[in-house]
Amino acid sequence: MNQTAQILFPVNVPTAFDYAVPAELTLTRGDFVFAPIGKQMKLGVVWGLSEAEPVRELKSIVDRKATRPLSPDMLDFIDWTARYNGASPGNVLRMVIRNYKALDPSSIVTLYRPSGEVPKNLTPSRSAVLREGGPWPARASEAAARAGVSSGVVKGLVKAGGLIAESGPVDPPFPVPNPELTGRELTQGQNEAGQDLVAQVQTGRFNVSLLDGVTGSGKTEVYFEAVAEALRCGKQCLILVPEIALTQAGLRRFKERFGAEPASWHSQMGEAARRRVWREVAQGRCKLVVGARSALYLPFPELGLIVVDEEHDTSYKQEEGVIYNARDMAVVRAHISGHSVILASATPSLESLHNARTGKFAHIILPERPGAAVLPEIGLVDLKDHVPEKGKFLSQPLLDAIAAVTDRGEQALLYLNRRGYAPLIICRTCGEKLKSPDTDSWLVQHKRTGRAMCHLTGFSMPMPKRCPECQTEGSLTAVGPGVERVAEEAQEAFPKARVEVLSSDTAGNPAELAERMRRMEQGEIDILVGTQMVVKGHNFPTLTFVGVVDGDLGLAGGDPRAGERTYQTLVQVAGRAGRADKPGHALIQTHQPEHEALVALAAGDREMFIGVELAMREMLGLPPFGKMAAVIFWGPEAAKVDALAKKFLGAAPRAEGVDILGPSEAPIGRLRGLYRRRLFIQAGASVNLSKYMSTWRAKVRPPSKYKIQVDIDPQSFM
Ligand code: ADP
Repeated sequence: MNQTAQILFPVNVPTAFDYAVPAELTLTRGDFVFAPIGKQMKLGVVWGLSEAEPVRELKSIVDRKATRPLSPDMLDFIDWTARYNGASPGNVLRMVIRNYKALDPSSIVTLYRPSGEVPKNLTPSRSAVLREGGPWPARASEAAARAGVSSGVVKGLVKAGGLIAESGPVDPPFPVPNPELTGRELTQGQNEAGQDLVAQVQTGRFNVSLLDGVTGSGKTEVYFEAVAEALRCGKQCLILVPEIALTQAGLRRFKERFGAEPASWHSQMGEAARRRVWREVAQGRCKLVVGARSALYLPFPELGLIVVDEEHDTSYKQEEGVIYNARDMAVVRAHISGHSVILASATPSLESLHNARTGKFAHIILPERPGAAVLPEIGLVDLKDHVPEKGKFLSQPLLDAIAAVTDRGEQALLYLNRRGYAPLIICRTCGEKLKSPDTDSWLVQHKRTGRAMCHLTGFSMPMPKRCPECQTEGSLTAVGPGVERVAEEAQEAFPKARVEVLSSDTAGNPAELAERMRRMEQGEIDILVGTQMVVKGHNFPTLTFVGVVDGDLGLAGGDPRAGERTYQTLVQVAGRAGRADKPGHALIQTHQPEHEALVALAAGDREMFIGVELAMREMLGLPPFGKMAAVIFWGPEAAKVDALAKKFLGAAPRAEGVDILGPSEAPIGRLRGLYRRRLFIQAGASVNLSKYMSTWRAKVRPPSKYKIQVDIDPQSFM
């Protein structure tokens, strides 16, 4: 033995451990190996190798797994993610390897496919298999489940001549995308933007492009050009999209452009699908992945391009476990591997705009929508002047606009980012508000299901008949609007209209959601009332009016990006109107018509908004001109959480240009029974805040059951 290896295990450990390498093993960095840790044999990854003879009695690596090692870039990326976000490298590695079976080749099983012949003795169950058993080839159990018959029927079809049985991998490879197919005919603007992106990919070096184009300007078609170029070079491509934009319709566009459906990756997928994507990506065989944020931690060995679509979207921030922002980490990943990254949005984040303006990112602008489609006019409705009727939420101008579009046979969308019927349930007799049992949040009334629900934890109970405090029967009242209530009001006002609600509660499974989208697309719904689920990427050709029920909703709370978020969401929502050749318009109900985000929206003047917002951020030293971090302390006893926060504050390292605010109770002071306190840290742009925070964090160990969570560049302020 003459080599020492550093092995990182996918568990919560801060560093890799030293092991002796047996003489018969030849290892490289990134290899998967088995080594003893405590009494267990565990799978880890070779993080480093040194030729030095092991100095002490080291434990020895037992075996190496015969599979492709993680690439050196991937190891660097894991280290970088851990360092930047104050996470342990072991926990980041755990995000990467989640399914050990994916390290082995796919098992070989018997698969069935139609022979093309009509079988002898075609019973109803046999025809069900032939009709509904696919996609083929399939295992007997899968085809049987889809057709609602027993596996015996599937196997019987082989003898009868309707199916052919052959051996094949249980997880088949993905079809190879073809970059040479031609897409849609691009407009001149799209073509130029596409060429610019292709040129960036062709440099074969790290670069970032901000693809900045109004909603419906055809950004997808444009970045497809860059994807095609990277595929032509034999590279793997990753397209990150917000989870709720990962729809069948979205994937179909890839299939149309590249002749093959891409691999998709999201949080709802089953183990088998996960294992298949992971293995095919790790082996470099799967070339095109469309996925939610965690797809960034798939082990691509030959990545050549990352696209972050809707780069401003808050769902790129992972808030649990390893806290990271996939948009920012995508840039890091590309930097490490030396390739292009494209950030696309109709409403880019101020950080990205700032980087584009200062020349760090290439700024590629798509100013127009293809064809005759124009951007909607946006108007404000001052709720002080147009007070809705008592107990109602739609003002006269909104009602008039809905009447006008529905009379023309067009569609209206009412947007309110509040699920359920009413956000608050209050007792008219004693004033009691229904609260979640273990969390500081009000219960939301859901009329459709007859329940009261906590949206933070998912707790729910049947809607009580009497007030739990004063026991008065029938005195609980709904306060404020949710989508269900707005739909009820719209139905009352327009009895003949077909009104539907779309929120995560009513969306149903992906097939039901797709069906609802189809009905909306084909004009079978007149008024759709929806939460943020309607904001993303759906095209409804006869949707010509968008009414925003509460334009102020996003402006409350302590988020320094509240104005930016409101502006982004409302531009995106309004952008749903007037996509085809019918011009659209939008009205926003508000109590604050003077707020700069709303003024800029109504004026259609993005530059004005960006100018004001950036000036304010600069003055306050907020991102992109300064840095932020948050620390959240969690624990079962309030006084001890307070003490922990104080102790932590006392351990703050001294540093120039760092301001610490708090500790104070977090806005959600108790969540799932745990008390929460928080600190805010603001620092100048030149401070290495990650390093500062990890030095600080290392000084205090929380007692068991207590937790200190560091969040670099927080996006959530609850
Ligand atoms: P964005 O992502 O910028 O909002 P999309 O890429 O989704 O826009 O395109 C918006 C709509 O315009 C889609 O229905 C798309 O199929 C269509 N589209 C895009 N480019 C063209 C084009 N060159 N000609 C015709 N239709 C186009």
